[in-house]
Amino acid sequence: MAGLRLEKLKKSFGAVDVIKGVDLDIKDGEFVVFVGPSGCGKSTLLRMIAGLEDISGGDLFIDGKRCNDVEPRERGIAMVFQSYALYPHLTVYDNMSFGLTLNRTPKAEIETRVREAARILKLEHLLDRKPAHLSGGQRQRVAIGRAIVRKPTVFLFDEPLSNLDAALRMEMRMEIARLHKEIGATMIYVTHDQVEAMTLADRIVVLDGGIVQQIGAPIDLYKKPANRFVAGFIGSPRMNFLEVEVADVANGVATVRSPTVAPVQIDAAGLSKGSRAMLALRPQLLKRDAGIGSIGGNVSLVERLGSETIVSLETPSGERVLAVIPQDETFEPGSTVAFHFDPSAAHLFAA
Ligand code: ADP
Ligand code: MG
Repeated sequence: MAGLRLEKLKKSFGAVDVIKGVDLDIKDGEFVVFVGPSGCGKSTLLRMIAGLEDISGGDLFIDGKRCNDVEPRERGIAMVFQSYALYPHLTVYDNMSFGLTLNRTPKAEIETRVREAARILKLEHLLDRKPAHLSGGQRQRVAIGRAIVRKPTVFLFDEPLSNLDAALRMEMRMEIARLHKEIGATMIYVTHDQVEAMTLADRIVVLDGGIVQQIGAPIDLYKKPANRFVAGFIGSPRMNFLEVEVADVANGVATVRSPTVAPVQIDAAGLSKGSRAMLALRPQLLKRDAGIGSIGGNVSLVERLGSETIVSLETPSGERVLAVIPQDETFEPGSTVAFHFDPSAAHLFAA
């Protein structure tokens, strides 16, 4: 097993800078998830670690050794892709053993490793099948098995579950968590699915535009987003952002107000009196009826999901506010309702 260290890692394609200086320490055995919108550089960063892309600047260390110029197969890394890339004419067993056979690994050793991987992935009864006769989830398991038999020190996953339907994705997500517990190897996992990120990661790295926006434990990112981007990216439905004016600041506490929000006191987060700011409120933070920081508006849309109700409000100033009520509740479209929130769980960002 091995830890990794990225120092000011950069990647340019011609004149286009895609990775703009990433610093990151990954501990041996850690499960790290790269998350961010499409095109932010997640795959590129992963491919640089794997050795499939040249590094334009900075240093990559694997297990303490500088690896910028080390051949991919010498890095002790295995990568699993979204497209399973299985050989259609080979059985599950042969797909998994293929790389080892090429390496001239002794036959008995191959057998041991493939059986062990099949046991971990519950593929034992499918070893003689061809990929065409497997479900999507089973194919992805074979792709993971092919990585496991190589006994890598680091596993890289690039959106491995994106091709699966929602139910299967959840099942495979739990499988991957179990796999990490069982084999304990360092894993780096790329996804744009924040539920995968929240549930799998020891730490999440949020990327945007080739720059790290925040690194931290999932729940820390949820509770203490470092900036507006992270606030808007982590959590579902997306946070509400309301433009407010900082009417006063005293002892690090700001009083903010807007046509939408009744005056409320919030941690000033370094903002000064008179500045404009974004008040960030999770939809789950909003509670029925007026109170501290009242927000009123007309009900424009109601989604009753049984376990919860999502209400969309249009405020008098034309802002849209989403509230999630943790139970079934009826709202009359067009009616006027008010919500309030606990200001200690709200966030303020510079506008
Ligand atoms: P993500 O995986 O986060 O969706 P990628 O790492 O695939 O993003 O891509 C990041 C950016 O780099 C994108 O703008 C993409 O168009 C660009 N890019 C990726 N690979 C190449 C390449 N081989 N040549 C030129 N541009 C590339
Ligand atoms: Mg990608």
